[in-house]
Amino acid sequence: MDGFYRILEKAVSGEFLAVPEITVLLCPPDEAAEKALFDAAYQLKCSICGKVVNLRGLIEFSNICTRDCLYCGIRRSNPKPHRYTMSVNEIVESAVLAGEFGYGSVVLQSGERSDPEFVDMVEEILCRIKELPFELGITLSCGEESLETYQRWRRAGATRYLLRIESSDEALFRKIHPADAVYSERKAALRRLQAADFQTGSGVMIGLPGQSVEHLAADVDFFRQMDLDMIGMGPFLPQEDTPLGQQYPDLPGDAEKRLKLSLRMIAVTRLVLRDVNIAATTALQAIDPARGRERGILAGANVIMPNVGNVSRRKDYQLYNGKPSLDENSSEIREKLTASLAEIGEMPRFNEPGDPLHYSKRKLLKKISD
Ligand code: SAM
Repeated sequence: MDGFYRILEKAVSGEFLAVPEITVLLCPPDEAAEKALFDAAYQLKCSICGKVVNLRGLIEFSNICTRDCLYCGIRRSNPKPHRYTMSVNEIVESAVLAGEFGYGSVVLQSGERSDPEFVDMVEEILCRIKELPFELGITLSCGEESLETYQRWRRAGATRYLLRIESSDEALFRKIHPADAVYSERKAALRRLQAADFQTGSGVMIGLPGQSVEHLAADVDFFRQMDLDMIGMGPFLPQEDTPLGQQYPDLPGDAEKRLKLSLRMIAVTRLVLRDVNIAATTALQAIDPARGRERGILAGANVIMPNVGNVSRRKDYQLYNGKPSLDENSSEIREKLTASLAEIGEMPRFNEPGDPLHYSKRKLLKKISD
């Protein structure tokens, strides 16, 4: 097989990479090779998306969850967080704030519930946000639902949906979830989102116990095979009140290694998938508060999701240890973000939804083939 630089050249020119080649790209032999990988991915990001970053105001509107994922701080059986669901008015006020900040889009994220009361409430929130006097793109991240629910939420005005597969390797997926989380069902939910005409996003956690670089290369191939429009992935961060966090607490240096691996995943995903939206996630910032997300952008990501929810809720939505900006209000977050993006020569894209190019191309191809 070709060496690292030959494969990087192939990737840059848009040639198809087989999974073993993706594995090689994820393991640059030295620092110069890693820099070449990041630079190539960043250049591609700039040529496709420009030197701009799409912003989505993140509203973590409920931490009530029916799932018991072994890694997640808001898992059903963790008694520590005070359980909350923001009122519809409070959620709409946060969306208004995102609009006033010029974010152009919001992400509504919550624990997973499928009961009719929850489904109705999300629908009402969507209708209320759509009634606002300015255009806001809406992404949902509320877990696995039926096709009917996805269709209702799509009709009510949401256009994007994030549902991480967490790991595309079924055996690893089983190790980090209880028996009621089923790999094939999560994958089927992604297919339902595409059938409901959502811009569909997924992703994985990086640096999970038992995860190899071959697993990660297969994850990139999974994103490609699933024809996803958006990718949101980040380092696994042990949470002290969860079974996985207790079994695998961080040793010194672990977190920085996972951050580096996550940056490589972003770069390789950009080079392989090209025209998708890729988030520089908050988990990167949890490891490197000053520059985590900016390093993500410089490795090829083009989306950041600053929190616009009320500060008082944030301590109860701690998926992992070290959640950043726990006590910063939304204006402070916006100011710091704008300044730190300027430092790396990037600008926030204000007042536009920032849809992924991949989605419009995918739709066009489907129309032609129908
Ligand atoms: N309930 C929805 C779902 O299942 O997609 C959305 C909320 S869920 C809490 C959002 C994401 O947080 C998960 O997909 C997972 O990847 C991430 N997450 C949870 N615990 C984490 C941890 N300990 N380290 C890193 N990411 C974590």
